[in-house]
Amino acid sequence: MSGPATVAIAGAGPTGLALALMLARQGRRVMIHERFDRPRPIGAGFMLQPTGLYVLDRLGLTDTVAALGQPLNHLFGREARRRRIVLDVRYADLASRRPDGVNALGVHRAAIFHVLHDACLDAGVEFVTDHEVASAADGRLTDAKGVAGPAFDLVVDATGARSLIARELLAKQGGRRHELAWGAVWATVPWPGDPFDSTALEQVYRGASRMIGVLPVGARPDSPDRLATFFWSLKPADHEDWLRAGMERWKAEVRTLWPEVAGLLETIPDVEALTLARYGHHTLPLPVADRLAVVGDAAHSTSPQLGQGVNMGLLDALTLADALETHPELDEALAAYARIRRWHVRLYQALSMGFTPFYQADGQALPWVRDHVLGKLARLPFAARMLAATVSGVLLDPRR
Ligand SMILES: Cc1cc2nc3c(=O)[nH]c(=O)nc-3n(C[C@H](O)[C@H](O)[C@H](O)COP(=O)(O)OP(=O)(O)OC[C@H]3O[C@@H](n4cnc5c(N)ncnc54)[C@H](O)[C@@H]3O)c2cc1C
Repeated sequence: MSGPATVAIAGAGPTGLALALMLARQGRRVMIHERFDRPRPIGAGFMLQPTGLYVLDRLGLTDTVAALGQPLNHLFGREARRRRIVLDVRYADLASRRPDGVNALGVHRAAIFHVLHDACLDAGVEFVTDHEVASAADGRLTDAKGVAGPAFDLVVDATGARSLIARELLAKQGGRRHELAWGAVWATVPWPGDPFDSTALEQVYRGASRMIGVLPVGARPDSPDRLATFFWSLKPADHEDWLRAGMERWKAEVRTLWPEVAGLLETIPDVEALTLARYGHHTLPLPVADRLAVVGDAAHSTSPQLGQGVNMGLLDALTLADALETHPELDEALAAYARIRRWHVRLYQALSMGFTPFYQADGQALPWVRDHVLGKLARLPFAARMLAATVSGVLLDPRR
C-alpha cells in the first residue's frame, strides 16, 4: 500500500460507500462520517449504466446487485397526445456491449446500499453516525457545532449535492451552484406488470411541462416483491399548491396523459406519499485541495435527466482509489484523480444541462424540436449509436 494510511470519508451514499470499500481493501484505515443516526439509503430508484456496472465489476459485486435489480434493455418516451414514440434508446445499439448481456440495471436505493454497506463492514470500514460534517481543513472534519475531529492523512467529501465543504471550495474557485426551476416528486410502488415493459424505463411527455416516468427497480434486499419508481415532473415552487390541490385532481390529470398508470396510481395513498426532489447544477473546477478530495454529487451535481449521477460517483470513487494506489505522493494522486475525471465530468455536466430543457421547461419550442426533429433523427443508425453511448456514459472514456 502506498499513500494515505488513514482516510475520513464524509457521507455514506453510494459514492462514499464504494470509495470506502476500495480504500479499505487497499489496506487503509477508513472511517465514514454520516449525519444520520445510522447509515441508510435515501432517494429514488435509479439506473446503473455500463459505467457504474464496470465499477461494480471491479468490486466483484455486480452479480449481487444484479440479483436484486432489474436488467434494462431500453428507455423510451412517448408524447401524450398522439402517443407517438419520440425517444427510443436501445442498449443493443451500443458499439461495445457487456459480455453478461446486462448493460443497464434499474436498482432500488436500498439494494445498492445494502450490498455496499455489508461489503464495507466485512472490509473493516468504521462508521461514525449522528455526525453532521460542516467543513474540512488540514485533514480534519469539523462538525456542525464547530468541533474538529482527529487528523487523517486524507479527507474525502462525499456528502452529495448540498455539500457544505464543496460549496466553500466552489466559492473559492469562483464557481456557483444554480438551483434548477424543475424537480420531481417520486414514489416507490409495486411493479404494475402488463402493459408495462419490465426491461424499459418508460416516460410520457406533454410538451416539457408534464413528464411521467415508470422505472422498474427490482426488489429491496428484505423482500422478493418487484418494485418500480414512479416520477412526476414538478417545480419545487409549485409543490405547496400541488399538495393543497390534493390527490384526486392530480390523479385525473395523470390518467388523462397516461391511462395505463391508473392501477399504479391506486397504490399511492396520498400526495404526501410522494417525495419532492429538487435539482441543482454545479461543477467544481478542481475537486481537490490540500489533503482533501471531493467525489460524487458533492463534486458535480445536475438534473437526473441523463441518469448519470450514481454512475459518475462510482467512477470518481474508482478513479480516486486507483490514483492513490498508483501514486505514492498524495498531491500527485489527487492531481491525477482530478485530471483523469475532468473531461468526462465536464462533458456529462454540459450534456445534462443541454438536454434538461427538452424534457423540463415551460416553453413549447424545445419539446417541439424533441418530438418532430430529434425523435426522427434518433432513428438513423449513427444517431441511435450516439444516443445509446450518451445514455450509457461512454461518449468519452470516463477514466482516460
Ligand atoms: C429523482 C432522482 C432520480 C435520479 N435518478 C438517477 C438515475 O437514474 N441514475 C443515476 O445514476 N443517478 C440518478 N440520480 C442522481 C443520484 O441520486 C445521485 O447522483 C447520487 O445519489 C449521488 O451519490 P452520492 O453518494 O454522491 O451522494 P448522496 O447519494 O446524496 O449521498 C450523500 C450522503 O451523505 C450524507 N450527508 C449529507 N450531508 C452530510 C453532512 N453534512 N454530514 C455527514 N453526512 C452527510 C447523506 O445522508 C448521504 O448518506 C437521481 C436523483 C434524483 C433526485
